[in-house]
Amino acid sequence: MHRFFVPPDWLEEDRVTIVGSLVHQIRNVLRLGPGDHIVILDNSGWEREVEIARVGQEDVSGQVVDKRLASGEPRTKITLYQGVLKGRRFEFALQKGTELGIVEFVPLISDRCVIASLDDVDKKRERWQRIILEAAEQSRRGRLPRLRPAVLFRPACESARRGGLSLIPWEEARDMEGATSLRSVLRGTEQPPFSVSLFVGPEGGFTPDEVELARQYGVIPISLGPRILRAETAGLVAAAAILYELGDLE
Ligand code: SAM
Repeated sequence: MHRFFVPPDWLEEDRVTIVGSLVHQIRNVLRLGPGDHIVILDNSGWEREVEIARVGQEDVSGQVVDKRLASGEPRTKITLYQGVLKGRRFEFALQKGTELGIVEFVPLISDRCVIASLDDVDKKRERWQRIILEAAEQSRRGRLPRLRPAVLFRPACESARRGGLSLIPWEEARDMEGATSLRSVLRGTEQPPFSVSLFVGPEGGFTPDEVELARQYGVIPISLGPRILRAETAGLVAAAAILYELGDLE
């Protein structure tokens, strides 16, 4: 059954009225009609199964036939602070991270990010939101991951400190004094962490000063092994390992 995130105000009691570009997708692309069932999500954590009643030129209406808690959300809430990447790589991280179960993406502007301006990043937001939406519908997410505004490195560390466990995958972490592995960090906590912030650098990586600053804010450097992963790979590997270790990939 096709799934669609819609604004809550399209839902009224046990009826839904769909307007806008989604009407074209339902009618002309998916060729759905009266009697077909779709799943509607309003980002509340509930999902509603809807039987289509009418497909018009401007709107599609339907009747809610079942309401259930949306599945598809991991217990562990991972926020990925991803160094802004060139071209499609950042979009790849958004799409795959959404499929994996990341709940929040923060475009991170660090020293070695190759971007023209913050404005340049903001201009991509709409496209990035759409990529997240499509990936969330395709992967049957119960909630839409949030895309926060781009932040500089220090404010990102401050924001992460207010959360739970914060990690910075760093390819030099293996050679650090008292280096800790991801597994020991995750197993070392009393309770499994409810939220995890992940800092992943851009193509050029983090500077040692950035890693040191992160450590001062309690962000723990961890290694993802002896091989150098591309930036868009590293966040996914770290998120998958965390979700696996904490039982969210069962
Ligand atoms: N220094 C890297 C190089 O030599 O190509 C550039 C950074 S790497 C392409 C991009 C980011 O992925 C890094 O900033 C780090 O966050 C993460 N990363 C890649 N490989 C890693 C590893 N083996 N352990 C920990 N983090 C890694």
